[in-house]
Amino acid sequence: MLHQLRSELELWALFERQPLPVAHWYVRGQKRGQWCTCDKVRFEGHTYPAYRLAYILDQGPVTEGMYLYAVCGKELCCNPEHRIVVDRAEYFRLRALSEKLKTEYSKIPGLVEVRRRPDGSILPPAGGLK
Ligand SMILES: [Zn+2]
Repeated sequence: MLHQLRSELELWALFERQPLPVAHWYVRGQKRGQWCTCDKVRFEGHTYPAYRLAYILDQGPVTEGMYLYAVCGKELCCNPEHRIVVDRAEYFRLRALSEKLKTEYSKIPGLVEVRRRPDGSILPPAGGLK
């Protein structure tokens, strides 16, 4: 789906912002109501993924062909402070590294992912405290 934006304010209003410390920003898709990046935004005659337009308006222009890597590890996140500009090779290098680390961490016995409530407070691990 395409969000037609008449002003920059409409872009900022699209984002559902999680509170600190995570502060990920998401766009709820118009079709299925889930967070997604498939929804694009149209602004001043150009079409962008929402995270890319947010980055451009907040941080400045991004050269055509450059990628915006989500350093927070959430590929759907639109928070411009969670993205860095990289070239294609670096983008895929970082993604592969991130996947490798996730796999390695999952092998460490007893290490559980920290899960947080929407207000940022920490939930007990799934399966309860040991
Ligand atoms: Zn994020």
